[in-house]
Amino acid sequence: MFKKTTTSAVPTVKNSLQNALFLQTALLVSATVFLMVLTAYLLARSQIRMVTYDQLRTVASAKEDLLESILSRQREQIALLGDESEVVDSPAIRRLLGLEALFTVQSDRTITIVKGEIPYTLSAESINLIMQSETTTLFPIFLNKELVSYVIVTPKETVGEHLVAIFDADPLLAMALDSSVGNGNLYIGFRNENDLYLLHAQNGVPTSLYVGPFDDLFEKNVALALAAGGREGELETEDYADIKVLAAYRSVPTLGWGVMATTDRATAYAPIARLTSTMFAAGFVIIVLSVLFVLNLAKRITSPLLELKDKLSSLETKKWSFDRTIFTGNELEIVDNAAFELTGRLRDSYEHLEEKVRERTRELAEKNAQNEAVLRSIEFGLVVTDAKGIVNLVNDAMSGLTKHNAQDAVGKPFEGILTLAGKDDKPLDPKEHPINVVLQEKKTYLRVPDPGFLLVTADGQHVPIFIAVTPIMQGDTCIGTVAVFRDVTEDRRIDKLKSEFISLASHQLRTPLSAIRWYIEMLLHGDCGQIDHECYKPIEAIGVANDRMIQLVNSLLHSAKLEMGTFSINPKPIDLIDVLRSVEELFAHEVRSKGIEIKTSGVDAHVPIVADADGLKLILQNLIGNAIKYSPEKSQVEIIVTHGDKELSIVVRDQGIGIPEHQKQHIFEKLFRADNARSTDADGNGLGLYIAKIATEAMRGTITFISEEKKGTTFTFTLPQ
Ligand code: ADP
Repeated sequence: MFKKTTTSAVPTVKNSLQNALFLQTALLVSATVFLMVLTAYLLARSQIRMVTYDQLRTVASAKEDLLESILSRQREQIALLGDESEVVDSPAIRRLLGLEALFTVQSDRTITIVKGEIPYTLSAESINLIMQSETTTLFPIFLNKELVSYVIVTPKETVGEHLVAIFDADPLLAMALDSSVGNGNLYIGFRNENDLYLLHAQNGVPTSLYVGPFDDLFEKNVALALAAGGREGELETEDYADIKVLAAYRSVPTLGWGVMATTDRATAYAPIARLTSTMFAAGFVIIVLSVLFVLNLAKRITSPLLELKDKLSSLETKKWSFDRTIFTGNELEIVDNAAFELTGRLRDSYEHLEEKVRERTRELAEKNAQNEAVLRSIEFGLVVTDAKGIVNLVNDAMSGLTKHNAQDAVGKPFEGILTLAGKDDKPLDPKEHPINVVLQEKKTYLRVPDPGFLLVTADGQHVPIFIAVTPIMQGDTCIGTVAVFRDVTEDRRIDKLKSEFISLASHQLRTPLSAIRWYIEMLLHGDCGQIDHECYKPIEAIGVANDRMIQLVNSLLHSAKLEMGTFSINPKPIDLIDVLRSVEELFAHEVRSKGIEIKTSGVDAHVPIVADADGLKLILQNLIGNAIKYSPEKSQVEIIVTHGDKELSIVVRDQGIGIPEHQKQHIFEKLFRADNARSTDADGNGLGLYIAKIATEAMRGTITFISEEKKGTTFTFTLPQ
């Protein structure tokens, strides 16, 4: 029972604890490190961006302030120059101021040069702008989309007259673009009509570059366009060389320009990349250290477990030694101790069990020997089959009777061992073989009266046997059969002698009984002279007793003839109505006195039935006679005939005392009478149904009944047609 577990049954370790711990720790630590690095990266990035934007905003504001202050200074100077233009007489001073020309524009658009020379022809549009200025204003002058100069206009006291100064734009631009933003750049954008221009210093020379249509770029949130459009803010964008930059932008309202300071994003974020790689390196070290630590821990857990497993797998029957070896002071030691105690208990119970098994085996062997002895010694032949009819067990008596070898019989179909013939000596229809009947019906086979089977032995002899078969049931399933059978040659010989004797005696008795009857009839009819009134009754009683005696003798004679097989059966077409009428006449007196109604149905006068007239009369006489005898007064007896092509069926139904449930199985036995019948009618002899049964079977028919006590009985018998 406690066999050592074979190697194949040991489950292999698919997911080792070490691997699981290693994987889980590596995953957990890696995820933590990754999250920390990511958080640090994002924080540093936003911090750096904030600082960079601050710097860029400062540069842009400073530039805006510078430009604003230069321009306001120049405006003030122009206002003053209106009266003291001699200051700029010197070309050196003019160059210093960047002043190219100073002139007045009259209300009639006449231009009067005060100092210097206008370097180009002023367009009508520019003159319009000059004329419209009501305060000191500034506007740039473009030539071929190039900013060449800017004009500062101051209205003079004389109405309609304006003092105009043209400044060279280069010094202003040089100043505006002269800036460095660490690693960044400064751009100035301006709008001329609907075009956006970018001012930048190319090799120190201010250059203007056409960027695109202003409205589109403003829509698209291009920083320079936003600045030139009067907005301020910061964003991440691409510069004109498509390099990703961080940008801060502001506007210079006086000029309508925009200032944008940018710095290369990659350069700005360079410290973050360094920080991230440092953190990754540190994270990697943390991961390696954690994994090493966990591996060590896992080993400390798994090695005692594996040791425990080895100790447990080495346990086997009769080898229960288990030593405690784990003293880790933790749960593992508790498990080791529990295994130690369990092994001890297993050892004890195994030893106890072994003793029990030995004892039980001895008992079983004794019982088995006893059973075998019983089986061997019974004179009944025994054949045990499984549900398919294969022989499982036989006894010696079976060999003696069938002449088949007991050992050869086992494992073979029962038909070859227990071959039967009917009492007419013809081979038995396999369906009627008692073992097949039991396998089919799952009910005990014990036929009364005995059907008189003959056993066909291995050497071809036909031996009369009595056979009973019982099903072996497991719940509702029949798992086999037990057949017992016995040689009844001697019984049948004695029965035959008995029947012959009864037949002879009955014959001998019938003649004197008939004579007695004849004389009683004569006495009662006064053929021998008038008899006294007192003598009449006793003579009548003698007549009744004599009739009963004749009836009994007839029954005995019939049963003896049927048993001996001398009751000749000759089926031929007969009129069923005649037969029924003659039977009913027999009971006419009783029917009248009890007021019973006999109701016959289904009889067709034109169609004769095929049967032996005497046999049929004998059966009907017994069935109808019983129905009348066991029925109460004024009840009904029904006779229902169904005449089919192959079968004639006659039902005799009464409303009488019925048959007690517990005595139904004995009803066809010879001389059997049920308890309720004995108390109702003391004169029965228990031969009627016995005769009806053998007569029916002799005519190859069947007889069955259903009955309920105090409600009535229905007998049905069939005859082949
Ligand atoms: P008996 O002479 O006693 O009627 P039978 O052999 O005819 O003998 O019947 C055997 C027994 O069967 C009866 O004693 C009775 O107990 C029972 N039996 C037969 N027919 C009927 C029936 N129609 N109603 C009730 N019991 C019946």
